[in-house]
Amino acid sequence: MAKEELECSFCGRKKPETNLLIAGLDAHICDRCIEQAHGIVAEEAMHSNNSNLTEELMLKKPRVIKKFLDEYIIGQDYSKKIISVAVYNHYKRLLQKDTDDDVEIEKSNIIIVGETGTGKTLMAKTIARMLNVPLAIVDATVLTEAGYVGEDVESILTRLLQAADYNVEKAQHGIVFIDEIDKIARKGDNPSITRDVSGEGVQQALLKLLEGTVVNVPPKGGRKHPDQKFIEVNTENILFIAGGAFSGIERKISKRLNLQAVGFSASMKEDVIDRENLLKYIIPKDLKDFGLIPEIIGRLPVLTYMNPLDEATLRAILTEPKNAIIKQYNKLFEMDDIKFTINEEALDYIVEKAVEYKLGARGLRSLCEAVLTDAMFEMPDGEEKSLEVTKDYVEAKLNKSTIKKLKAVS
Ligand code: ADP
Repeated sequence: MAKEELECSFCGRKKPETNLLIAGLDAHICDRCIEQAHGIVAEEAMHSNNSNLTEELMLKKPRVIKKFLDEYIIGQDYSKKIISVAVYNHYKRLLQKDTDDDVEIEKSNIIIVGETGTGKTLMAKTIARMLNVPLAIVDATVLTEAGYVGEDVESILTRLLQAADYNVEKAQHGIVFIDEIDKIARKGDNPSITRDVSGEGVQQALLKLLEGTVVNVPPKGGRKHPDQKFIEVNTENILFIAGGAFSGIERKISKRLNLQAVGFSASMKEDVIDRENLLKYIIPKDLKDFGLIPEIIGRLPVLTYMNPLDEATLRAILTEPKNAIIKQYNKLFEMDDIKFTINEEALDYIVEKAVEYKLGARGLRSLCEAVLTDAMFEMPDGEEKSLEVTKDYVEAKLNKSTIKKLKAVS
């Protein structure tokens, strides 16, 4: 056959009409047909994947989930256990829905109470990573009731759709982490003074999403616009995890536990109650006293707390998790053939400063950046190919750095 006569055996396009024509044994295929065929294969794979999705996820038993969490998150054993069971039950529920049993398992949405920087977001991220489902992280403070300036509650689902590359099926099995849920608590005890733009109204709007409903989601987010085409998303199988610091909630817990009372019974209690970490005793009623409406609390039935990070935990966070900060720097330097070491004393000193500046785990990263920026700037094209970080080195770099200013702010 003459060269110019070659054609695609699928669509019949002649070679000059194609960008690429690939030869097979007895046939040819053009670039367009390859793309089309690829699309068909991908779609088929997606359909069969989705039907297996929950069954596959179900294979992860709570102990396996916890083990995975252990690789990335230091400590917080109680929360990990509670969350592992909740996640397992969540996917069990999805499986059960295909049967016509009378017992309907309710959603196990989760609420995590804990100071900022204690790993609430990390928990949600790690679970999404393990299950390989899309995750949207949203801040409750930007949400407002429909009709007010700010983002509609539906925008949460826009983020999830984006995280799922607009694959609706995937998004519907995803996870949404709503941060700062405490910031939409009702202010004050009287709910009827005026309309509370970002408080109770938003809680009401969130209710439906948490429970499970079909929502018209604007694909580009922002405010709903009459001309925008919507994508329907069913939130029934989406796992919601809410997190918040609920600062001051200890007072409510302490009041409930009657710790202020003087007298014999109080002193008895003091022996057993860990006053340093009252969050341990949190119950849904405390969230209600803080200003969450009972309906919201009811739809976040799994309640857990994060322990504050002590020095030992911060120290472990630096080096132990699978993608620990120090391991990351090691890799970064390694890519420039630089041998990077940091000794125990230097690590302890960084932790000491993180505690002193009240920066928590998030501060570890900023401190390391402050210590290592000079080296990361100069060494890649410099002569020196080894960096040994000692306590003196850390001290000198931190003294020079603006990070000390953070101390004044906190
Ligand atoms: P939160 O959502 O509670 O404010 P984050 O999850 O954003 O806190 O955590 C802040 C930073 O601290 C993250 O970089 C996270 O990796 C790290 N971190 C916090 N707690 C832990 C922990 N227990 N184990 C490992 N890293 C942690």
